[in-house]
Amino acid sequence: MTAFANDYKSDIHPVWCPGCGHFMVLRALTQSLAWLELDKNSTAIFSGIGCSSRLPAYVDTYGFHGLHGRALPLATGAKLAHPELNVIVVSGDGDAYAIGGNHFLHACRRNLDMTLIVMDNAVYGMTKGQPSPTTEPDWKSKLAPQGTHLRPFKPAAMALSAGASFVARGFAGNPAELSKLITAGIQHRGFSFIEVLSPCVTFRPEELNWRHEAEPLDAPPTDDLCTAMHNLLNHHHLTTGIYYQADLPVWTPDTAEPVPLQQLEEDFQP
Ligand code: SF4
Ligand code: MG
Repeated sequence: MTAFANDYKSDIHPVWCPGCGHFMVLRALTQSLAWLELDKNSTAIFSGIGCSSRLPAYVDTYGFHGLHGRALPLATGAKLAHPELNVIVVSGDGDAYAIGGNHFLHACRRNLDMTLIVMDNAVYGMTKGQPSPTTEPDWKSKLAPQGTHLRPFKPAAMALSAGASFVARGFAGNPAELSKLITAGIQHRGFSFIEVLSPCVTFRPEELNWRHEAEPLDAPPTDDLCTAMHNLLNHHHLTTGIYYQADLPVWTPDTAEPVPLQQLEEDFQP
């Protein structure tokens, strides 16, 4: 039986601001679930706190809206207790990279078989517009009238260096491509990190201009860490596609396989 995106939507109406990029992420995710015809009873979506973290309520699977920054530990516990679950984590730039920053790094390192989707709008939307770890240093706001003068994180590069075995970037303004990236991430065995640039139309309306700048990566997915890092750092931050996909040992309760030292050395050869 063919499944449709709407089959995976819950009856709860999203309360996001009209035009918020997160609507398109929801659309892309439900499309992916439909393409994969995932069993709703074997799928769970975890979140922390923030506008993005409302998403599990809008999908007709199991869901857990947890504490700020703690979606990944919740999801890790669920995956270890129920390895058969399809585990998806949704988060935002503040939730994933600030409050939950340490969990982000170690979830990548553990390479559990789950998918993390971070809706990045370079601002704390729910708490009315504070700068986040991905905000540009010169962005002026009420809380930082002169800008923060802080270097923004490069989350995809961090995920790569921390050990994620699938790293991709999508744009909410291109939900067709985003669905393909999310589908590939869910199908990948290991920790899949999908950075999604998702404009906050209320506090960062200028992000609507991203639609003029987003463009696809002009290189195929690679399992070579140095090539992936090179591609990431040599394209602008709106370049979308799969940067890295590798078959790395996955952490499970039964087989916490250590990464062979020789493989680590080869991966990090300049
Ligand atoms: Fe979306 Fe920003 Fe509104 Fe939050 S505040 S729902 S991120 S537009
Ligand atoms: Mg945000």
